[in-house]
Formats: sequence, structure tokens, C-alpha cells
Amino acid sequence: MSQFDMVVLNGMAVLPGLGPQQVDLGIKDGKFAAVADRLSGADGSDVVDAGGRLVLPGAVDSHSHIGIYRPFSADALSESTSAVAGGTTTMISYFRTGTHYLNKGGSYRDIFPEVLGLSAGNFRCDYSYHVAPMTNAHLDEISWLIDQGVGSFKLYMFYKSLTLSSDSAKGKEYAMSDDYDLGFLYEIMERVAAEAKARNRRISLSLHCENPELIRPYLARAKAQGLAGLEAYSNARPPLSEELAIEEAVVLSHAAGCAVNLLHLSSGAAVTKGIEVKRRYPDDDILLEATLHHLMLNWDNAGGRLGKVNPPIRTPHDQEVLWKALLDGHIATVVSDHAALTKDKKEGDFWAAWPGFGGTGFLYPVLLTEGVQRRGMSVARAVELASTNSAKYFGLYPRKGAIALGSDADLSIVDMETLRPVTVESLHSAQDFCPFEGQRFAGWPVVTIVRGQVVFKDGAPRGVAGGQFLRRA
Ligand SMILES: [Zn+2]
Repeated sequence: MSQFDMVVLNGMAVLPGLGPQQVDLGIKDGKFAAVADRLSGADGSDVVDAGGRLVLPGAVDSHSHIGIYRPFSADALSESTSAVAGGTTTMISYFRTGTHYLNKGGSYRDIFPEVLGLSAGNFRCDYSYHVAPMTNAHLDEISWLIDQGVGSFKLYMFYKSLTLSSDSAKGKEYAMSDDYDLGFLYEIMERVAAEAKARNRRISLSLHCENPELIRPYLARAKAQGLAGLEAYSNARPPLSEELAIEEAVVLSHAAGCAVNLLHLSSGAAVTKGIEVKRRYPDDDILLEATLHHLMLNWDNAGGRLGKVNPPIRTPHDQEVLWKALLDGHIATVVSDHAALTKDKKEGDFWAAWPGFGGTGFLYPVLLTEGVQRRGMSVARAVELASTNSAKYFGLYPRKGAIALGSDADLSIVDMETLRPVTVESLHSAQDFCPFEGQRFAGWPVVTIVRGQVVFKDGAPRGVAGGQFLRRA
């Protein structure tokens, strides 16, 4: 009988506080059971030879949208395959009622169990959910949702226009919401803050920060001029709308004492505002998040309308401000905002084309190539941004986000030597296009392991979809 179910030999494992270390790993019952100077092949029933490569804790992609545009269970399977192909071993996905997703409104007491049912047996990685209260009735379900293992919530600030616009009936129908305004936002913050205090842990509210009242005239002008394309889209939803929304959000979160996650800061102005409000309220819990696409894409390289996303793709200057904020330590998490859809949804009238696209399979490759190899970021910092910090902020640490004794044995062994161009096939997704196509990255996984099981190896998924729902506590 071997001592361990699996040993990972000859790797440079990134350990908490120590960075890359030449150690061998023993895995038993799905957890790290040894981090040792030397183990032998005889110590494990299975032996994985890392061949001197980096061994990273599996990425925790804390912003994705499983099931938003495609049938839920099929999307969970195809897009979690994309995740493990890129070294992501945990996805935290946003869910809301309304148009898209399950295309219905109603009580989360009915709908959340349905989401878990559609998820079970369809994920190759482990998963958890953030949930967006959309109606006043949902406010009374926040506490119940936390009991179900949901530790974070969301509000889409730009949906406010849906309920305030001249066609508010249509907007309310889309969101299946009622008073979706700053008052509603404040009420969510009060509830979330009270729950966090009562349970003595971080329970947070994620915010999509774009102000719709400001988008309204800019959007009307762009349409009136007959413009289309990513530059017009960016001008129609200008950085000023992000700045204003951040300002509104943090004035309220400061008053409510609510922890907030400022999602996908896309512009230099938004990042600068985010850094400013953290300085203004040093005791407040404010997380700044960046996405792969705002770091890597601009109007010229995002594949035109295929790169339509909210908030929009900006300029190379905005990319530089984002990278600087990452390297300076202001931004805590890098995520994909993965929302898989097919090319036909991007066709037709530019303004009606669906926003978003996938990218969870590039989380480590982007940070290791553009961050580490090209911009001098440490490997340890890349691991914090892709894995450890998301686990910590969203109540999964130290079970996830670390190669450490007792943590889940989630890891990815990556090849830092081979630069490979991004192709649609390299996504391993149901998406039939990719705005990153043609960019060249290293850091692709050779093997990805979830709780001691090989889930991706040598370019193909392995085994069954054994991902588990993670209750956050
Ligand atoms: Zn998103």
C-alpha cells in the first residue's frame, strides 16, 4: 500500500509566502497530505512527473456567468472544460433571475435549488455562486441564501435605467425587477452588512459600476450619428459613467458598512477612482477587480464586434493604467467574466448584438505571459491574483487557493517554455470565436488536477464531471 493516492514529483510548486519551491507533493483523499523536499514514486499509487515545471494552486475564477446565454447544464459542462484547460479549478459564477439564464423571475427559494440541480454532475471543476437580488421580495431571501452557501451578492448599476426609462415597463420586464435604483442598492447593502456582522465573516456585494443616466445621452448621440464598432461603443458607455457609479456605490457602502467588490474596472479613469476611494475610506473593505480582456484587448485587437462587452473594451492607455495598478498591488483579483455565446449572437445590428464572451481558459496563461514574462510580475503575485486572493475574499480559503497541508489538492502544472497562439480550439469551449485569437501565450497547463483527480491532461479533458458545489462559510 502506498502512503499517498498520488505524488507530484520534480515540480517548482508555488507555496504561500514562499513563492516557487523545489518540492514534491503527496495527495491523499483529495487533499495535500505532504509538501516535502523529496518523495519517491513508490510513495504514491499514482505518480505525476512535473518535469521541473511550475506547479500552481488551481486558479479560482471568481467572476463567470455559467448558463447566461446557453442551456444551463450544457454550458456548465462545456465551460468548466474550458476552465480546467486553462488551470482554473474553481469557478464562482453569477446568477440572477430575469431575461437570459433560466429566463424567469420568482423566488430564489424555488430557483436556487433548481440552479444547483442543473449544476450537479455537469462541472469538471468545483463551483460556487454569487446571487443578484432583483426584486424587493429577494431582499428577504438574502439571509436564506447565505445559509445555502452563497456568500456574495450582486447589483448591476446600469440596470437602473430599465426601471427609470420612458419605457420602464419593458425594462422591468427584462430584469423582472421592481425598484432597481440606488435605494434598492442601499437596502441590499444594509442587509449584507448586517449578515456579515452577525456571522462575523466577509459577506460582500459585487457591483457592475456603470451609471445608466450618463450612458443615456452618449448612447443616443452615437446611434444618431450612425456609428458602430468598439470605439463608438466605448464612447457610448464612457469611463465617466464608471467613475460616477463607483462614487455613488462607495458613498453608500461606506454609510452601510458593506464590503464591496468593484468588478471589471475597464478604464484608467475607473481604476484611478477605485484607488482614490480606497484611500478615502482606508477602513472600508473595497476589492478592485480586473478582467483578462480589459488587460489584453483594445479597439484594434479585439476582433471588432466580437469584442463587444460591458463595460466596453478601451484603449492601450487604459490597458497600461490597469497593468500598473496590478503591478502596484491596488487590484486584488484578475478574472475572466466568462460568458460563453456563439458568433451568431454578435451579428446584425451592432447595438443589439449580445455583450460578452469567454476567457476562463486564459487566466493563468495571460498572467504568466503578459504579467510575469513581459512585465516582470513575480510568479507568486500572479498566483495571488488568479487564485489565492479570490479564495480569501470569497470565503474559500484555505480550502482553495493554496498548495498547503490540508487544502484541496487542486493544481495545475504549466509549461512556461512554449508560446502558443490562442485559437478557438484552445478555448475548449462551446464558443465558436475568440477575441483573443492570434495572441501568443505561454503558461498553458500540461496537467490540471481537482481534489487529486486528473481533469485535464495533454490537451484533452479527462474523467467525469466530478466538480462539487462549494458552500461558503
Ligand atoms: Zn460579469
